[in-house]
Amino acid sequence: MVLCDAHNHLHDAVLAPHRAGIFADLAAAGVQAAVVNGSSEADWPEVAALAAAQPLVRPSYGLHPWDVGNRTADWQARLTACLDADPRAAVGEIGLDRWMLDRAAPDDPRLAGLRRAPLAEQAEALRWQLALAADRQRPASLHCLGAQGALFDLLRTARRPERGWLLHAYSGSAEGVAGFATLGAYFSFNGAFLDPRQARLRAVYAAVPADRLLVETDAPAMRLPAPREEFAAFPVADGAPANHPANLRAAYAGLAEWRGVTPAALAAQVQENFARLFG
Ligand SMILES: [Zn+2]
Repeated sequence: MVLCDAHNHLHDAVLAPHRAGIFADLAAAGVQAAVVNGSSEADWPEVAALAAAQPLVRPSYGLHPWDVGNRTADWQARLTACLDADPRAAVGEIGLDRWMLDRAAPDDPRLAGLRRAPLAEQAEALRWQLALAADRQRPASLHCLGAQGALFDLLRTARRPERGWLLHAYSGSAEGVAGFATLGAYFSFNGAFLDPRQARLRAVYAAVPADRLLVETDAPAMRLPAPREEFAAFPVADGAPANHPANLRAAYAGLAEWRGVTPAALAAQVQENFARLFG
């Protein structure tokens, strides 16, 4: 089976010491492509370097809503240059995040040092990046946390990439799927959703049309529940253990169970969807 990771952060520094082993494990697990998302300006050169070294990496460059507040004056020129340097490059990770504003603790270590941009400022950056993707005919990968209604309203009036865009780790409502799909969305299932506490998502992923379905790890984030974790997480000195990206195979297995299809049939469908969206 050929597996494709629709969304991860393989360039992340916490994975760097383990990189050789990770790429061997990915090859053994059948992972043949992975969209690697740089989500801040500091990430972009790291993603470019990894894409140059590893053929399975599909580079993607964007400003994540967490990083919008700390953008530099020339971020748009730098992002445009990243896309123009590589015709395979996509736009992402971009999006909207209300969790950071309303629910995140003031001292959440993941947000340390970041100015938390208000939703209107996030929306302006998102709209501009979607238009860039549309202009360059590149796919885009979107993050949405606690802002499903606002995202839907924005997308209805935004310029969007004609080939489609990904709503990564979609955890919104089942009812929302059809509306987003009409606007060009693909939906990527994350292995963390196999946690029994996320059981409501089973109905959500039953509602996703087969031709809009993708699978992702978001590694080093979003670990699978322990019984599902096939590759052990890497310890991280000052943070949560890092999800091994070869756990993609376990995510496929879980989603195949949820959808009542064989892993091979799911893999064939997802490979076709991945190629249609990401090229
Ligand atoms: Zn991500």
